[in-house]
Amino acid sequence: MANILIIGAGGVSRVATVKCAKNSEIFTKITLASRTKSKCDEIAKFIKERVGVCIDTAQIDADDTEAVVKLIKTTGAEILLNLALPYQDLTLMDACVKAGINYIDTANYEHPDLAKFEYKLQWAKDENFKNAGVMALLGSGFDPGVTNVYCAYAMQNLFDEINYIDILDCNAGDHGYAFATNFNPEINLREVSANGRYWKDGEWIETKPMEIMFKWKYPKIGVKDSYLLYHEEMESLVKNIKGLKQIRFFMTFGESYLTHMRCLKNVGMLRIDEVDFNGTKIVPIQFLKALLPDPASLGPRTKGKTNIGCVIRGFKNGKERQVYIYNVCDHEESFAETGAQAVSYTTGVPACIGAMMVATKKWQGKGVFNMENFDAKPFMDELNRQGLPWEIIEMKPGERYEV
Ligand code: NDP
Repeated sequence: MANILIIGAGGVSRVATVKCAKNSEIFTKITLASRTKSKCDEIAKFIKERVGVCIDTAQIDADDTEAVVKLIKTTGAEILLNLALPYQDLTLMDACVKAGINYIDTANYEHPDLAKFEYKLQWAKDENFKNAGVMALLGSGFDPGVTNVYCAYAMQNLFDEINYIDILDCNAGDHGYAFATNFNPEINLREVSANGRYWKDGEWIETKPMEIMFKWKYPKIGVKDSYLLYHEEMESLVKNIKGLKQIRFFMTFGESYLTHMRCLKNVGMLRIDEVDFNGTKIVPIQFLKALLPDPASLGPRTKGKTNIGCVIRGFKNGKERQVYIYNVCDHEESFAETGAQAVSYTTGVPACIGAMMVATKKWQGKGVFNMENFDAKPFMDELNRQGLPWEIIEMKPGERYEV
């Protein structure tokens, strides 16, 4: 039914490619391409052994738009799933426009030299996609991604008006290292060490990094310290959820992670500008990435669960209502199925489902879209089928799950 080109061969790509192969009635041809072809070949071997499906592999530099256009033409792909880094979003979007195919990613564009996370430059390509008659689906991971779909589902099915949203991201996994990141260390540390920000009564309120913390009781996990961060799905949800008065994002961190991060920041290891070291130019955060464990290597060591969800409060039929929609994902089960831990799993599965929505035309359009722009129901149904089942708890309006 669809010919898909997946770019990037890290943990997220591994999960998404395994899931696409498991849905080979939809994805009749899969090509996995990345900077390091041997990583694609290793994933292809895993899929052949475990799923019994053969996929093609290729070498590609995703920063080179013309090379990507050429690869799209030689593979005949109709959908490009970008699971490389956020730095590649714009070049890959341009390649899709030039080749006239649909584009999907999981993270908004970041400039390598500027700590800025925003959709502006991607939304600006709306006209280009419209003119080419194809679509771009932005942020089809978990957060952004499933969290947007939870909010859309609530808006379309559970509420007449939504006023408050708290997005709560808990990783209670233990990999046994004093310090390591669960996805690309450079992207993770840039996000976490930036100032916090939330939206209230029509304006953004900035906080110092990790300034606001509360203890939240996560279903099936327990109580965890949860810190307010800026996260990209808030930018589109603020635009698309009508009646919204406040939206915040919280993520859990253990003491060891925070102590290491503060220390690394204090000594300049999180700097993203070049410094001179004995005549060689290095970017400290990139050097640090080279020293830290590869997130892919955490898979076999990580035990425990993740819980990511949204607490949504508003009105239905004139009565106040509050619900908590969430998924719990197990690191060891994720690894057993795909060879990657739950942070990659919770991102890679929705990436595959986003591609399914586009391939089956359940979600279609011309231009650039965020996840909440479409009917949430088919995506929610697919989450249950593809390994990320969700639950809804009805809460008392205003009730804090806090302790
Ligand atoms: P990894 O760093 O493990 O993998 C990235 C892959 O992209 C690597 O295989 C890398 O190649 C490849 N790559 C990087 N630059 C290029 C390039 N110029 N050309 C071709 N390939 C390139 O990252 P993850 O798998 O952890 O994350 C993938 C994406 O998912 C990221 O954008 C991340 O921000 C996003 N993400 C989204 C989440 C969500 O919930 N929405 C959560 C977690 C991650 P090489 O192997 O040679 O380095």
